[in-house]
Amino acid sequence: MRDYSGILTALVDGSWKEPGTGKQYDIGVKDIVIRDSLDGAEAELIASRHAGKSMTVISDAFTHAAMGQRVYKALAADGQNVTEYVWDKPACSDEGVAHLRDATRHCDVRIAVGSGTINDTVKYACYLDERDYSVFATSPMNAFTTGTASVSFNGFKKSITCRGAQGVYFDLSVLSQCPKRLISAAFADVICRTTAQVDWLLSHLLFGTRYAETPYTLLAYDEPGMIAGADQLLSGDIDALGMLTRISAIMGLGTQFTETTHSGSMAEHMISHYIDMFAKERHPRSSHGEQVGVATMTMSKLQHQAFLSDSPPEMHATSVDVDALQQRLGAHSAQSMMEEFSKKALNDKKTDQLNQRLADEWASIRERLQSVMLPHDVLSESMRLAGCQRTATDLGLDADFYREAVSNARYIRDRYSALDLVDDSVGLTPFVNTMPT
Ligand SMILES: [Zn+2]
Repeated sequence: MRDYSGILTALVDGSWKEPGTGKQYDIGVKDIVIRDSLDGAEAELIASRHAGKSMTVISDAFTHAAMGQRVYKALAADGQNVTEYVWDKPACSDEGVAHLRDATRHCDVRIAVGSGTINDTVKYACYLDERDYSVFATSPMNAFTTGTASVSFNGFKKSITCRGAQGVYFDLSVLSQCPKRLISAAFADVICRTTAQVDWLLSHLLFGTRYAETPYTLLAYDEPGMIAGADQLLSGDIDALGMLTRISAIMGLGTQFTETTHSGSMAEHMISHYIDMFAKERHPRSSHGEQVGVATMTMSKLQHQAFLSDSPPEMHATSVDVDALQQRLGAHSAQSMMEEFSKKALNDKKTDQLNQRLADEWASIRERLQSVMLPHDVLSESMRLAGCQRTATDLGLDADFYREAVSNARYIRDRYSALDLVDDSVGLTPFVNTMPT
């Protein structure tokens, strides 16, 4: 048995000390285990968290065959009070959550076996019912260790803060059999560390936004190894997969250290949200990680260009063509975006202050941002080797729509990013018209 939990073991027992500060953290999740196989260990792992409780093992048809059936049988053979529920049409929507709560209301604890949909539905259902849950993951995504669930209400996805899982268990031999697309998407949703960190640090350096290094300190232990092993991932290499899984789990914990999702979700995620919200008819159901990967490529290119020059950008007060936005997105969407956006829009006074700061500190700001950036060619090549989609065309998205998404994504949230810096200085249009699509 090979264990890949690494630093996660010290994080869950609270013994990890942050270098420099010596600070220790309670991350909420009680157990995170990554092994080459968990076959034969299921009953003991669950008993250590949920002894004496009635449980339901929840999976869908695919994850039941991959692992759910095995988990259920192991718990039953151990004499634990367990039933199973194989959900034929899982959906992480308001109706789906209501259905699952109803179908499994008899148990104290829910045990999820699956990937994004099963995990997030169980997480949110348990949050509403004030019950505990644990999860056996069937893909290496970062959603298993987060305290948030992505739930669709009337077709609109919302990220909701819930309680995290008690135990998160990864059996790498199961993960190595998952669809390759999920492995590539997980890689993309972790490598976006580079653009998210640059954006968050930029916001901190320009406006004093609260910023925390902790998630990045943890990710830095494994990122070089994960990039070096990118070409082994799709062949199901257990060592490479173990490293990706560990770094995904660490990425998911970002919110536990910072109480916000900034560390792994900045402009690259806003572009993905824009695609989700406004490309409904035009995109062939690309996944979150796939969209984030393409947007990370775009943001990386933009950030490299934005911080290339020795002289600071000259900022102008923000002007928005609200009518055009309303026409394109509808009055309701445009209005809620403007409410969010107005928090970071530059008026004349803020523009003067920002120009002064940039004039005084540009060299040091630029140097700090460049120090946390992954070179664009390293990003691009590692994503290629990991089988990631890298352009809008790869996603099956219309190039014009993608240009619109990059141009308008800054309006989605109040988080300040390189999109704002560029649009309020030289404008985004020259970049958007020449970026690879
Ligand atoms: Zn993400």
